[in-house]
Amino acid sequence: MSDAAQSLLERLTQFRATIPDAVRAIAVTKQVPVEAMRIAYTAGFRDFGESRVQEAEAKQAALSDLKDITWHLIGHLQSNKVHKAIALFDWIQSVDSLKLAQRLDRAAEDSNRIPHLCLQVKLADDANKSGWSVSDLLADLPHLDQLTHVQIHGLMVIPPFGLEASAVLALFQHAHALMEKIRQQGFSRMQFEQLSMGMSDDYQLAMRAGATMIRPGRVLFGDR
Ligand SMILES: *Cc1c(COP(=O)(O)O)cnc(C)c1O
Repeated sequence: MSDAAQSLLERLTQFRATIPDAVRAIAVTKQVPVEAMRIAYTAGFRDFGESRVQEAEAKQAALSDLKDITWHLIGHLQSNKVHKAIALFDWIQSVDSLKLAQRLDRAAEDSNRIPHLCLQVKLADDANKSGWSVSDLLADLPHLDQLTHVQIHGLMVIPPFGLEASAVLALFQHAHALMEKIRQQGFSRMQFEQLSMGMSDDYQLAMRAGATMIRPGRVLFGDR
């Protein structure tokens, strides 16, 4: 192993040692070469997050010998790629509209897979991001609970860029409170036990606020 590969392996192994067992650390590998992903696998990562369907498809082909990877889609999904996304990803964390969820449900019926979904919610105005507003999400929940070919597990949150740490923490706490509120509504199919939040700069705040999944990228692999 080269020195660079050795130091990446050490960094990734040390990172994993700081994450509690109850938190699932998803290595965000967009624009990361498959060689580095193999090192992440060696360090113990089994969850990989990709933003683009096409990029994930190429990487899955290159890593097909690693059988126990769980693949997460974390970027916006176009409706014409729904079938492909279901074939490639175990989790689709970036479900951002009722229409997309319904499309996924219909496509899943034709497949032999049950996609695991998170609902992307916007807790602050952010023109750059897709996702439900809280009020729209609450209104759509009864419809989402009727989807029978997908499994909805919880929420995915991305804070707006450039917030201060205290504001990010407040936003994550708001997300956690929203999860609890939805869970208490007692939907029949949806579980709401997963809260996906926290990237390189704020995963510690996210864990403090109750994240069950974190999505670090640059802190693992360096700047893109
Ligand atoms: C890119 C990305 C990440 C990782 O971001 P880093 O700043 O590299 O840690 C996490 N979540 C989503 C949705 C992303 O698009």
